[in-house]
Amino acid sequence: MTGIVIIGAGHAGVNVAASLRKQDADLAITILSAEDQIPYHRPPLSKKAVFDEALPIELLQANGYYEKANIDLRLSTPVTSIDTAGQTVTLEDGTQLPYAQLVIATGTTLRAMPAPGGELAQGVYTYADIQYLGPRIQAANKIAVIGGGFIGCEVAAGALKMGKQVSLLITGPRALRKAVAPILGETVTKLHRENGMDVRTGCRVQEITPQGVSTDQGFVEADVVITGIGADANMQLAQDAGLHTQHGILVNEFGHTSAAHVYAVGDVAEFPYGFGDNKTTLRLESIQNATDQGAIVAANIVAERQQQEAKAYTPTPWFWSDQGDLKLQMAGLGSLDAEHKVLPGNTETTLTVVHLQDGEMIAVDTLNVPGNHLAGRKLLEMKKPITWAMIEDCDFDLKKLFKQLR
Ligand SMILES: Cc1cc2nc3c(=O)[nH]c(=O)nc-3n(C[C@H](O)[C@H](O)[C@H](O)COP(=O)(O)OP(=O)(O)OC[C@H]3O[C@@H](n4cnc5c(N)ncnc54)[C@H](O)[C@@H]3O)c2cc1C
Repeated sequence: MTGIVIIGAGHAGVNVAASLRKQDADLAITILSAEDQIPYHRPPLSKKAVFDEALPIELLQANGYYEKANIDLRLSTPVTSIDTAGQTVTLEDGTQLPYAQLVIATGTTLRAMPAPGGELAQGVYTYADIQYLGPRIQAANKIAVIGGGFIGCEVAAGALKMGKQVSLLITGPRALRKAVAPILGETVTKLHRENGMDVRTGCRVQEITPQGVSTDQGFVEADVVITGIGADANMQLAQDAGLHTQHGILVNEFGHTSAAHVYAVGDVAEFPYGFGDNKTTLRLESIQNATDQGAIVAANIVAERQQQEAKAYTPTPWFWSDQGDLKLQMAGLGSLDAEHKVLPGNTETTLTVVHLQDGEMIAVDTLNVPGNHLAGRKLLEMKKPITWAMIEDCDFDLKKLFKQLR
């Protein structure tokens, strides 16, 4: 039987390869990467690396790992097509590689800024992005960041901490509007403002020029303009190959796509989530997802080869974001439609918000309370119904509730 081919060397692709290698020392594993860098962690790029003159890179695996593990990692080798009937992929130079099982881990691409002059703004996704942006941020006095999602807020808060004059331009009413409970988004917006950030909400960008950003709230002068307006799944390869897609490449609970022997994993994969009436499909952009789904897909590839039963991916999602001195941690899948209740005992810079749907806890968002994040995560991982009354009965102590229930 021929080996495993993995397209994409981000967290998901590399994790599939490393998990496969742990399970089978002899399996032929090839990773094809469009990037020219040895695979690295993305989260530090927007939190610290872009602000550090040395532009540090944190590798996903230690130097020499791929050689030692006998994983054939090919950098600067984009895949141009997949033939699911012939079980081959074609590389940019025309070479065809056969596969027994194929893993598509192509991640996402940042959305381009649609306004005139959008090409003057730069996003943060790859190491190449921070090589471009880092020196420009160092040299700048005024920085404008467009987009109030996690990455926009991280970059804006980091630049502010460096002493730059920072404007954060947000179309919605607050930062992190779609990502966290409203009260947490409002608190984060307020704290960034109190720290001196010019946060403009309800602000529409009209044009970007070399001098700054023209908006419906006036002109914002900037030496550097950075965007964080979301990303879309890299699924063209899969679509061209006839795989089923929606917002991502559709997979079942085992990570299988609609084509035999082809799996998708990480940011690009849209998987089933939830139970009963709440069943939906979901595409997550997080390290937890890339790591845990990667491990399941690796186990299922081995199971397919050994004709054993596949394991289902049933995650409890979690995510974090460091914004200057603010540490946000989210466990579970929060919802803007949920009831949001705040645990008592907060200071100016701490908050724990419980999302309740149909009376049961579905997510916990925290600001600078890592203990509550961890306890909330463990509670959600138990997959037992947890109500506000149960939390109240434990004096709003999530750790105590976890100890009681385990
Ligand atoms: C700046 C930043 C900060 C983040 N911070 C956090 C955080 O704090 N917490 C968190 O949980 N998550 C964070 N994330 C999200 C997290 O990094 C992603 O969820 C994770 O990297 C997804 O991994 P992936 O392997 O699915 O995709 P990616 O990391 O995008 O990797 C996909 C790879 O596939 C390659 N590729 C695409 N097409 C082809 C092709 N045709 N041929 C070959 N290769 C191809 C791409 O070049 C890329 O290298 C952050 C992301 C960014 C960009």
